[in-house]
Amino acid sequence: MQRIDAQEAMKLYREANLFDLADQATEVRMANGDPEAVTYIIDRNINYTNICITPCKFCAFFRIPGHEEGYVLPEDTIDAKIDELVELDGTQVLLQGGLHPDLPFSYYTDMISRLREKYPRINVHGFSPPEIVHFVNVSGMSLEKVLQDLWDAGQRSIPGGGAEILSDRVRRKLAPTKCTGQEWLDVMETAHNIGYTSSATMIFGHIETLEERIDHLERLRQVQERTNGFTAFICWPIQSDNTPMKGMKVGAYEYLRMQALGRIYLDNFPHIQSSWVTMGDQVGQLALRFGADDMGGTMMEENVVSAAACTHRTNEERIRRLIAESGFRPQRRNTFYEYQPYREIKETVGAAA
Ligand code: SF4
Repeated sequence: MQRIDAQEAMKLYREANLFDLADQATEVRMANGDPEAVTYIIDRNINYTNICITPCKFCAFFRIPGHEEGYVLPEDTIDAKIDELVELDGTQVLLQGGLHPDLPFSYYTDMISRLREKYPRINVHGFSPPEIVHFVNVSGMSLEKVLQDLWDAGQRSIPGGGAEILSDRVRRKLAPTKCTGQEWLDVMETAHNIGYTSSATMIFGHIETLEERIDHLERLRQVQERTNGFTAFICWPIQSDNTPMKGMKVGAYEYLRMQALGRIYLDNFPHIQSSWVTMGDQVGQLALRFGADDMGGTMMEENVVSAAACTHRTNEERIRRLIAESGFRPQRRNTFYEYQPYREIKETVGAAA
C-alpha cells in the first residue's frame, strides 16, 4: 500500500467505510509485523511521585506541592513493587511521575543506576518527555546532557506519554505550562540519536480538530523517518472523569477509525498497541482487526496494590485469551519487542493469592 499524505488521510477518515479502513489498516499491519502473533509485555507501572507543578486539565492524578495527599515513594516501596514483578517474570517497569519542583536531577540518575544494578533483567522504561524537559529546567543542563546522563545510568527506553495532541494551540489550552509539541519531539529525536527506543502516544477526542490529529501523525512520521527509534504508537480517547474536562466522551467507532488511520499513516512504525484497558475487552479485541498487533502491558491496574500478583495473573490470562479468541497467537515480548518465553505461573505468589 502506498504512503498517504495529510489530505488523503483527511478524506479517508471522513469518507471511508469502517470495514475498508479496517482492511487497509490490516494490510499495513501484516506488512509490518508477525502476521500470526499479537504481543504483550509483563510490566508494572510505578508512579514515583504525584506532586506536580504543571496542572493539566485532563489529569486526575497530580497533587500540587504541599498538598496533604502528595507523596514521593520511598526506595523500599519501589523495590517491593519490583520484587513482585521479578517474581512474576516481568521485564519492564514503567516509571513515571509528576513534575516535582524540589527533587534534584541526581535523584533520577541515582534511581536508574540503583535499579539497574539491583534488577539487571528489568528494563526501566522511564520518564516521559515532559519529565525530561523538567529535568533540563531543574538541572540547567542541555537536553543532550540530561539524556546522556540517564543513558549512562542505565536507562534505555522512554515512554511516549505527554504527547496528547502536539498542536500548541491545543496544548496552550489544556496544559499551558507543559512542554511544547516541538519540545516533545526534540526529546524523542535526541534520545533516538543516543540509542534509546521510545513509544509515541496520542490522546484525542477533546478540543482538537481532525487536522490537528493528522498533523500529530505527520510530525511523528517525520521524526521516525530520520531516527527509526519509535517502536510503537498508541492512541486512546481522553479519560476525563474526575477532571475539569468531565463529560468529553469518544466512542468505540471513532476510536477504531482513529487507530486504523494511525496504522495506515504511520507506515514506518513497526507496531500499534490496542488500548483495551481504556476501551474494554471487546473493543480491544476489535482493535486487533483495525491495525493493532500488540496488547501493551499486563500491570495496568497499579492501584490494586494489595492484589498485585493476582492482578498480574488475571491480566496475563485475560490478554492471552483476548488474543487467542481474535485468531492470533499470544506472544510475550520485552520492551524492545524481542520475544520472551511464556512460563505459566501455577504456584501461589505473594500475599494476594
Ligand atoms: S504533567 Fe503529568 S502529572 Fe503533571 S498534571 Fe500533567 S499529566 Fe498530570
